[in-house]
Parts: sequence; structure tokens; C-alpha cells
Amino acid sequence: MTGLEFTTDHWYLDDLPGDPDERNVRRQVNDAAWSRVTPTPTADPTLIAHSPEVATELGISESVVRSEQFARVFSGNEVPADMTPFAMTYGGHQFGNWAGQLGDGRAIALGEVATPSGSHQVLQLKGAGPTPYSRGADGRAVLRSSIREFLCSEAMHHLGVPTTRALSLTLTGDEVVRDMLYDGHPAPEHGAVVCRVAPSFVRFGHFELPASRGEVDLLRQLVEHTVHRHFPHLLAGEAADGPTNGTAGMEPVTDEVITAWFREIMERTADLMVDWMRVGFVHGVMNTDNLSILGLTIDYGPYGWLEDFDPGWTPNTTDAGGKRYRYGNQPNIGQWNLSRLGGALSSLVDDVAPLQSVVDDYPACFSNAWDTALAAKLGLTDGALDVDARRELANELLEILPLVETDMTIFFRTLGDIDVTEIDTAVTDGELMQPLHGAYYTVTDLSGEVLARTADWFRRYVTISATANQSPDERRAAMHAVNPKYVLRNYLAQLAIDKADAGSYDMIDELLDLLRHPYDDQPGRAEYATLRPDWARERVGCSMLSCSS
Ligand code: AMP
Ligand code: MG
Repeated sequence: MTGLEFTTDHWYLDDLPGDPDERNVRRQVNDAAWSRVTPTPTADPTLIAHSPEVATELGISESVVRSEQFARVFSGNEVPADMTPFAMTYGGHQFGNWAGQLGDGRAIALGEVATPSGSHQVLQLKGAGPTPYSRGADGRAVLRSSIREFLCSEAMHHLGVPTTRALSLTLTGDEVVRDMLYDGHPAPEHGAVVCRVAPSFVRFGHFELPASRGEVDLLRQLVEHTVHRHFPHLLAGEAADGPTNGTAGMEPVTDEVITAWFREIMERTADLMVDWMRVGFVHGVMNTDNLSILGLTIDYGPYGWLEDFDPGWTPNTTDAGGKRYRYGNQPNIGQWNLSRLGGALSSLVDDVAPLQSVVDDYPACFSNAWDTALAAKLGLTDGALDVDARRELANELLEILPLVETDMTIFFRTLGDIDVTEIDTAVTDGELMQPLHGAYYTVTDLSGEVLARTADWFRRYVTISATANQSPDERRAAMHAVNPKYVLRNYLAQLAIDKADAGSYDMIDELLDLLRHPYDDQPGRAEYATLRPDWARERVGCSMLSCSS
């Protein structure tokens, strides 16, 4: 084989027991963490987009990316010689209810590799055909949801939010039938495969499933694998040397290590929620099978970006009733999910109290980090500022923003562009708010009591900001580093999808390029940083998405 060569390094396969049954038929898989499964070939694989950064990290040159072999391998039509594709076993709580075995129903890990720079990465094909975990579904993915996953995971990376990455987006040449709105109108769509890349795709649900079945040995092996391979610093001085032959060769993890590990997962989850809240991201399906043990954003489905700042908003129509996964509830769900994980781990320790205290510490951990993030978003990080006044100001803003339709991204970005030392606070409320008008969907709504309250806030904000010990340029640069100018607005992704459905893929690359530098002002690209156009307000795919993908 030329060009596409990898150094395989099968941590997951080597450490954990596999399913002895190699038939690719849907079933319950007990006492095993994975099943061997080969991707199902497709009619006509065609590469339509790739991430050059991820290719470089994997040691794949641009000429190899352009080769036919690349499209074949990353659509599941050819398995490189030393790879042993597999699907993972996991369970999960979906929308608050225990769902039993789920597993990789349409994701197949092509293999685990050591990259030229020394990192460990799993190459996973999403939409590559059925697996033992496909339950009633087809194992495939449609182009629209694949474009959304490809673009958003790369955008998140460039925003500095921990995430799985995406190497490639391939059309399969096959049709996939989906009832997009679950309203009895199934229709054929283009099939696609995204190759996702992450050090591990292990989820909270990996631990819940063996715990629910009383498979304590498997549960312990999963913990040992994850700690030894992905959290070795927690073993420093104890057993940090990597295992080679299954977890049997690993030093067992103590109760103390399990608690320290759970604490780190708790902190990473809290930090992830802060990041999502900071950039205005709504995951949409925070089931425990969609929470990464590494604290990565994983499984991009009916996610969305806040346009107007509405803490009650969820893009997921499947969740429209309870809005469990609405923007403002994400931090709470993080804790709920951690409780489920802690419960799963409890059978491994003598005393559950330390695990419980980790869960109990989550709210403070989140609030402290969110408080710091909000201070940064507001440019109020100067240590000399009164902390209580700053907090009060931030909290008041979060109450004011939903009162009139205010674009979150534009609001914070504009705030950073304003030179507070130049603002005359003695003018009328209406005049005072003029510099921020661009953030409002209907400026005339900013009137009466809302105007008075907003202007009062802005006056206090300007006054406090002006006392901070930093130059206007420093303030602007610091704020722009945390308040993105460009995010993957829901309607932008939908425009790229509409064009791709019509056979034109340029906008995918254009958006990928734009979102590579989300914090920079990019000349000539103002159109991507404007308010959502009116046509997108109620359009399917822009404001409403189902789990159908
Ligand atoms: P999600 O909440 O979309 O991440 O998916 C929940 C579960 O359903 C996971 O086990 C997925 O692998 C599985 N799943 C989703 N879509 C499909 C599909 N088209 N074919 C097979 N399994 C699927
Ligand atoms: Mg999932």
C-alpha cells in the first residue's frame, strides 16, 4: 500500500475484552467492550471536504488526501492492511431514562494510531454501515448531518473548545431514507461518512452499561484502561508505565485514584459547560452516551448556536416538550450526568462518600469557572475591580439580554469594540445605547422599561470598565480573544447544506476556512458576522432540528 500508512497502536482493543461472536448481527453484547465489524462498502465514494490540520497531524499529505484510496478508506470501502475495525459497547441515559445497551450503531473505528507527533488517535467512520449495536436503524448518516458534524467539530476546535475532530467528509454515492421531521414523510437523501478523530471515544455510558449488568470485572477493566491510557498523571509514582497486554498487566487502580479520576472528569465537564455557555453552543442531546470521558464535545446532532440570547432555547425539536437540553440547563445536566457516572463507579469502591462529594462539588466548580469566563467576556478581569460589583453586573446582564431579541455573539463582540473611555454616560438612554444597536433584532423593541434598565446597566458597565487598569487596545484584544466574531450560525450551516444537496461543495470549504480564525476580524467576510436573516427564523435546519440524521 502506498501513501496511506499508519502506525497502529491498539490501546482499546489490546486492553479490553472483545466480543467472541464476529457475526455482524444486531444483538446484546455481554462481558465485552467491543465487537469486530467491517464497514459496509458503498456505491461511489467521493471526498468532498477535509481538514488539512487533522490530515497533517495524522501524517497524511495533501496528495494522498486527493487520492482515490483516501476516499475509499475514509468511506469504509477499503480497510488498511493492519487495521482491525471495531464498534464499541456502551449504554446510556437518554432524556433522563435508562436506555440499556446502545453502542456504536453507525460509528466504526477503523483503527487506533500513533501519530508522527506522538499522540494517540482513534479514526472513526460515522455512517459506515450497520454494527451489532445498530438496533432498528441502518448504520448510515445523511449528508446534511455529516456536513454539520464536520464543520462544527472543526469550528469548536478553533474556538478553543475541547472536541472530537473531523478528518474528512465523504459522499457514499448511496441514498439513505430519512423522515427528517418524524412526520410521516420519509424521503431519500445523500449518504455520507465523516471520519472523526479523537484520543478516545469512550463515553459516560461505557461505564454505566457494565455497572447496570453487574459486570464488575469489565467495569474495572474499563476504568483501568481509561486511567492508565488517558489519565496517567493520576498514577504518578504508582503505576504510570503503560500496559502492553490487557488490563491484566496493569497495576490495579485504588479507590483514591478512582476518586481523583472522577474529580478530573467532573472538572473537565464543568469546564466544557463553561466553554459551551461562553460561545453560545447548545449541544441538543446531552444523553450520558453523548458525554465524553475526556471532556470533549462529542456527537454533533441537533445542536445549535444561540442567535438571540434565550436561555430556554433548544434547537432539538425532539426535546421541544421538556426542553431538557436547553442552553441554560446544560450546566445542570452536566451534574446529572456525572451523578449517573458516579453511580456506575460506586460498585468499585469501598466507600461511595468521596464519589458523592465530587458530584456535590460540581456546582461550585462550574460557577467559579463561569464567573471567570463572564468576567473575561466583559473585559472585567482586572484584579483591582470590585468582585461583587463585577458579579452583580454580569448577572444583571444575563437577565437583561433575553428581554429583547439580542444577538449574543454580536452583543459581546461589539462590547469589546467599544472604547469605554470615549462613551459619554450623560446622554439620553436612547443615545447611550446607539453603539450596541447592531446587536438587536428589532431596535425599536429596546424601549420603555427595558431601555431604561439596559441603559442603566450599560452606564454602570462603562463606569466600572473605565476604572480598569488597561489601555483601550489591551481591553479590546483581551475581549476579542474570548468573544468570537464568527460562529457556525445555524443558517450558515444550512446554506452550505442546501448548496451541497445541489452538488456544490464550495461553501463547506469557505466556512471551514472562515471558522479557522473565529476571533479575528476577517476583511471581506462581514456577511458571516451579521444578524440571522429573517427567512431563517422559523426554517427547518436553522431553528429547528430533529434527531433524524
Ligand atoms: P445519538 O443520540 O444520535 O448519539 O444516538 C443514540 C444511539 O443510536 C447510538 O447508539 C447510535 O449509535 C445509535 N444510532 C443513531 N443513528 C443510527 C443509525 N442511523 N443507525 C444505527 N444506529 C444509530
Ligand atoms: Mg450518540
